[in-house]
Amino acid sequence: MEKSAKIYIAGHRGMVGSAIYRKLQKEGFENLLTKTSEELDLRNQRAVADFFAQERPEYVFLAAAKVGGIVANNTYRADFLYENLAIQNNVIHQSYLTGVKKLMFLGSSCIYPKLAPQPLKEDYLLTGVLEHTNEPYAIAKIAGIKMCDAYRDQYGCNFVSVMPTNLYGYNDNYHPQNSHVLPALIRKIHEAKVNDETQVTVWGSGTPLREFLFADDLADACYFLMQNYDEPNLINIGTGHDLTIKDLALLIKDVLGFEGELVFDTTKPDGTPRKLMDVSKLHNLGWKHQIELKEGIELAYQDFQSRY
Ligand code: GDP
Repeated sequence: MEKSAKIYIAGHRGMVGSAIYRKLQKEGFENLLTKTSEELDLRNQRAVADFFAQERPEYVFLAAAKVGGIVANNTYRADFLYENLAIQNNVIHQSYLTGVKKLMFLGSSCIYPKLAPQPLKEDYLLTGVLEHTNEPYAIAKIAGIKMCDAYRDQYGCNFVSVMPTNLYGYNDNYHPQNSHVLPALIRKIHEAKVNDETQVTVWGSGTPLREFLFADDLADACYFLMQNYDEPNLINIGTGHDLTIKDLALLIKDVLGFEGELVFDTTKPDGTPRKLMDVSKLHNLGWKHQIELKEGIELAYQDFQSRY
């Protein structure tokens, strides 16, 4: 990518898109194209077609998606399926029609079967049944991967798919019900601390294992892969380390300085028991994350405090 290349970042106001935007700016790219969802509704086929025909981006990062935590995914099942399919259908197809040189589609580790062996290798895709709570979202993301592959096979498009693990970072969503576990626990523990409460409720049993990557590390990996990865198959992006939800809650307690106790609400779903990425493919290409979990939680907490 030349520094003058026209690069469209779909979803630049989200946690992932904004991190990619900052990374490209830092690297000196001058021709970054962005649209807010009010300016361009990516679910609208006509609007997306007009936008691509007019702007003709050379490179596309597809980081726009409807996302949320376990309860949001399970509650808004139709919306997660429909909106994500619509967004990626429109952006991928118009990228093909207008001759985009390279497109990067961002998926998620929830595309892998619920009970797949761990760590999750890229070729475990479609080898088993999905986790029910986020099946609609996963089906949409799997369709996106297959679309990139099919457009490469049939039309020779250089469309690649990357699969990030659970993410957190600047501009995260701290909604009490709809967010992911890490921002949800930052918020709950912060509020318990400032209100002098003695307990914090953690959903589920606390035993599921999750891996977490800071969004700026993800953006760094995406930039690296945009330059160094042109293969048809997907590639995982993660740290290769995980911890239990209980240990995550204890770590956040520690960073925030909350002394109270954790209570586990087992009426809430656990989701998949473990979701650890095999990152050997990425490591073999020469990329590794930089921000460790404790440091990342400190940075995310600063961002939370500055925004709430
Ligand atoms: P998942 O990785 O798709 O399962 O999505 P989440 O990040 O929403 O949840 C991960 C795990 O954290 C699940 O086992 C949740 O039950 C658990 N968890 C514990 N407390 C919370 C919370 O306050 N919010 C969310 N979203 N998950 C929580």
